[in-house]
Amino acid sequence: MLAEIIAIGSEMLTPHRQDTNSLYLTAGLNALGVSVAFKTIVGDNRQHLTSAIGIALSRADIVVLSGGLGPTEDDLTRECVAEALGLGLHRDADVMHALQQRFAARRMAMPPNNIRQTEVLDGAIVLQNRNGSAPGQWLDTVYGGPSGKVHRKLVILLPGPPKELKPLFDEEAAPRLRQVLPAYFMASRMLRMALIPESQVDARCAPIYQPYTDVETTILAGSGEIQLHFRCTRPTQEEAEQRVDELAELIEREMGDDIFSSHGESLEEIVLLMLGMRGMKLSVAESCTGGLLASRLTAIPNASRVFDGGVVPYANDQKVMLCHVPEDLLEEHGAVSAPVARAMAEGIRAISGSSIGVSITGLAGPAGGEGPDADKPIGLVFIGLSDGEDTQVKQVQIPGDRDRVRLWATQHALELLRR
Ligand code: ATP
Ligand code: MG
Repeated sequence: MLAEIIAIGSEMLTPHRQDTNSLYLTAGLNALGVSVAFKTIVGDNRQHLTSAIGIALSRADIVVLSGGLGPTEDDLTRECVAEALGLGLHRDADVMHALQQRFAARRMAMPPNNIRQTEVLDGAIVLQNRNGSAPGQWLDTVYGGPSGKVHRKLVILLPGPPKELKPLFDEEAAPRLRQVLPAYFMASRMLRMALIPESQVDARCAPIYQPYTDVETTILAGSGEIQLHFRCTRPTQEEAEQRVDELAELIEREMGDDIFSSHGESLEEIVLLMLGMRGMKLSVAESCTGGLLASRLTAIPNASRVFDGGVVPYANDQKVMLCHVPEDLLEEHGAVSAPVARAMAEGIRAISGSSIGVSITGLAGPAGGEGPDADKPIGLVFIGLSDGEDTQVKQVQIPGDRDRVRLWATQHALELLRR
């Protein structure tokens, strides 16, 4: 079963508004074992909307429409669905009654415009909208393509405002779908890896996942990580889970420790979990990342069990004051250097009394360094990790702009902590 979602509203074709309804609908449809094959966004335009509906009917079994059910002239969904399907519209007495009552309860006369909202597609079931004036519609119908062959189609009309669409989908549309669809269940898994090129992940994993033609595999790269998503639909939940677990296990065997999370947890979550299990406490000294690492860690609930705190010694004299970095190290090697990263990590650990101290110092750009750092390349970052017995320093060269260098620097620090 394939679905298409059509989000209707000219505002979503501007740079100012996004279609979020389709994300919600996709999750709901997936939970019913339905894959969303297409999403269309179309403005409040009769010709465009009718043609979009025709295309959707020709390629999807289920067409879910969001928006354009209001009382005004630019709310065209009802008419365009009718036209695309060659169906009539009738004024529904029950909807009229409900609308009149809605206005009466507010001591208002019903504006003549709202009569448009009583128009129901012939053969459709009205989906009561308790959060707004526009009712939804459910239509179980047939549609003949150009070949003349007739196919069953489910067409669902839902109001655009998310606080109306969501309950109407959950309470009215989803239960009907569950009744008419064969029982299918979807399982999904996400494996996450940091600091590894997408091409390398694909080269190693594609031979493993390609034979699993029934498992939909997606590789997503961004924000310093690679995500491998698996989805599988089966007649029982257990079978679907088994299938994605089987594939995930093979991938885990291949990628080993490169995988930081196999059930979707973030890298910072995993680091906090691992340090917590070892009973360790962490403090950070961040120069070029300006607190980004601390911010990522403290965004996780209960971070306080592991995260003690940190400093942002941005200027050289602050590295001396806040981390007790010896001045001569700064003069001799520059702030962006292995000896300073080491001294910062050891300093913050000693000052805070935490079991682990982590430091980050680097050149995020676009301007270069000064003094002893003048000739160093943008993107050069040193990360220090001191655990009281030993201090390691990792030197990395991160390509990209300032935001990327800063984000990847925190990824490197978290990976160093994890391993
Ligand atoms: P209705 O079907 O209830 O008449 P409509 O499209 O006619 O919906 P609008 O007044 O155009 O109603 O939109 C109501 C609100 O819902 C607006 O804030 C709009 O941005 C929002 N909205 C409409 N469609 C979507 C969508 N696909 N995703 C997120 N928000 C949406
Ligand atoms: Mg609209």
